[in-house]
Amino acid sequence: MRYLPLHFDLQGRDVLVVGGGEIARRKIELLLRSGAHITVVAPDISDPVATILQENIHSLHAATYDPGFLPGKCLVVASTDDAAVNEAVSRDAKRMGIPVNVVDSPELCTVTFPAIIDREPLVISVGSAGLAPVLTRFVRELIERILPERISMLAEYLGSRRRELKNSFTDIESRRRRTEAFMESPGAELAMSGEGEKADAYLFADDISSVAGEVYLVGAGPGDPDLLTLRALQLMQKANIVLYDNLVSPRVLDRVRRDATLEFVGKRSGYKSTSQEDINDLLVRLAQEGNRVLRLKGGDPFIFGRGGEEITALIEKNIPFQVVPGITAASGCAAYAGIPLTHRELSQSVRFVTGHPKNGQVDLAWKELSHANETVVFYMGLGGLASICQQLVAHGRNSRTPVAIISKGTTPEQRVLKGTLETITGLAARTQVQTPTLIIVGEVVDFNRS
Ligand code: SAH
Repeated sequence: MRYLPLHFDLQGRDVLVVGGGEIARRKIELLLRSGAHITVVAPDISDPVATILQENIHSLHAATYDPGFLPGKCLVVASTDDAAVNEAVSRDAKRMGIPVNVVDSPELCTVTFPAIIDREPLVISVGSAGLAPVLTRFVRELIERILPERISMLAEYLGSRRRELKNSFTDIESRRRRTEAFMESPGAELAMSGEGEKADAYLFADDISSVAGEVYLVGAGPGDPDLLTLRALQLMQKANIVLYDNLVSPRVLDRVRRDATLEFVGKRSGYKSTSQEDINDLLVRLAQEGNRVLRLKGGDPFIFGRGGEEITALIEKNIPFQVVPGITAASGCAAYAGIPLTHRELSQSVRFVTGHPKNGQVDLAWKELSHANETVVFYMGLGGLASICQQLVAHGRNSRTPVAIISKGTTPEQRVLKGTLETITGLAARTQVQTPTLIIVGEVVDFNRS
């Protein structure tokens, strides 16, 4: 390792920037974030640089560089377009033992600026010895994606409990083991949600494994794994048990941590399906055993997902949980089928309703669903399709209103069948429509027909 990463405390310390253009501006903004006092020297200082520094009461010198600016500085950055000046700055600083960075010239540097992932107070730096800045940025983005934004709160929490932890666990080894166990416990999630006091129950428990686990109620989206949220992916890596149902696609399950136990709790033809009560009980029991349980649901857990019932059971038993929204089928299917759910001229509102039939009939407030300029999305409606179309027309919706049936939306097997309230039932009967299917009714279905 040729470059040793160190985190530099620049608060109130003097830094010299040689150069006053755009590149200097970017470095100055970064240095300002660390609280440095900056002196800029350049024959021409651009307006943006001048403005930034004046706002922050720093020193500006419209002059050419000379070594007289160096004494007392703890860091020097050169960013001029004059190679001779850059070389002189590098040579003088090295002679005086001052760390120096020359932008885009690794051979003139004794220090380089890493790419930074800033979750203050947690800061991660990525460097490639100045050789591959694009690769460095790529790695930075990768880390940005997997690192929760709120990890900063976890860092602050651990910092605030340091002394107490030292008192409770006097030897360094037991302290380290406890902190590691805490990171794997629900306490870490609680600290990230700003629930420090609840997190303490884990950090300071006599036996951390005896404290209850937690449940993540996570929306898995409509099928395409690329529609998972970052938060869903983070928790899919964290859980040790996963309960999922029919709507969660195999490609989504592929993203779950490899050593997690997967348990199917949906309906499967020929088998008795797990009842909602059984699922609620299972969630509670697994969490009480100390597991990190991921309850993965198609789409969004709070839209026709019975998420409310599951969290009621968890609240009753005082189990920590969190709910992560997912892209609901209506949003996913509409986007992938190119149908805007609302449209300035054609539809000013959209409703999501369940089209689940009972004894072949769908029982809804049909009058309210029959306004010409509203889009209505039916979930679970295929079995009741005939009844839906018939009722809408009977309650005043034009029989030529366009209808789309989207099956297996957002997956490679997505199919879109279009017709009208009058024709779609017949079309669907003649086509092998596969479930799950979503029905969209409204002028937006044909919004670009002109
Ligand atoms: N919580 C889910 C909905 C569960 S109800 C969500 O927010 O999306 C189940 C119904 O959702 C299915 O009957 C179907 O109407 C719809 N659905 C879910 N995924 C779908 C998909 N990929 N394509 C079409 N419809 C889908």
